[in-house]
Amino acid sequence: MVEAFAVASGKGGTGKTTSTLALGMALADSHDVTVIDADTGMANVLFHAGLADVETTLHEVLAGEAPVEAAVYDRFGMDVVPCGTSLAGFERADPTRLREVVATLAAETDVILLDSPAALGSRSAVLPVVLADRVIVVLQPTVPSLSDGLKVQEYARTYGTGVAGILFNRVADDEDVAAVTTKAERYFEGETLATVPESDAVRAARRAGRPLLAHAPGSTPAGRYREAAAELTVRDIASDDVADRFRNAVIPEQS
Ligand code: ADP
Ligand code: MG
Repeated sequence: MVEAFAVASGKGGTGKTTSTLALGMALADSHDVTVIDADTGMANVLFHAGLADVETTLHEVLAGEAPVEAAVYDRFGMDVVPCGTSLAGFERADPTRLREVVATLAAETDVILLDSPAALGSRSAVLPVVLADRVIVVLQPTVPSLSDGLKVQEYARTYGTGVAGILFNRVADDEDVAAVTTKAERYFEGETLATVPESDAVRAARRAGRPLLAHAPGSTPAGRYREAAAELTVRDIASDDVADRFRNAVIPEQS
């Protein structure tokens, strides 16, 4: 039984990678969690999870040079599949193979979290949103960010992917975020999972190469991510169904 979530947003820098690993660690208390760095052009899970020196990554798997199992690392209570950062690795990688990778991993886990590219970059960048059962939209409490997030929701709907919820990140102290979340909930299908403050703890964790929940488990943002994970009801979808859906997913044309 497994459900796959894409952690997505319109633009980069909203905190998708931070959020993927934080939610992953929180969910790992009660589920088998697999985190996949599906942002294959701008990968950075490896830097957030102390995996910068590993040899085999998703790039080698997508290039057909290594089996999936060789790129799975047991870190912080999760199975983490990092992706390399070289341009050569990206160019050798065949993104369509991601379907088979996720289908294979679906047999072994309860929750798949796909750290996703900025989905508005190109049509191929929406692949994780296409593959996932539901998307978690990471937003900042600004009008442009909400508008980008609505485009992600539109992509998701087009491909039959639901919205599990929205997550506000990098919220400044003095922002009246309640007004924004109330308004946002009118436009987004999912509820607000959490509002995470702009915080030095998040930056320090990134510098230390550790997920926030490992580096500063008692910090306010860590607590908010735990609340967000508690709001998520993971569905028990038969692993075979998920795997079949992945294998048969129609991939948007490259552009
Ligand atoms: P994305 O994956 O969406 O591009 P990241 O998770 O890599 O975003 O975050 C981008 C940068 O912003 C990182 O340096 C990260 O440490 C920082 N960051 C993310 N969330 C916060 C936060 N709540 N407070 C402070 N810095 C943050
Ligand atoms: Mg990222």
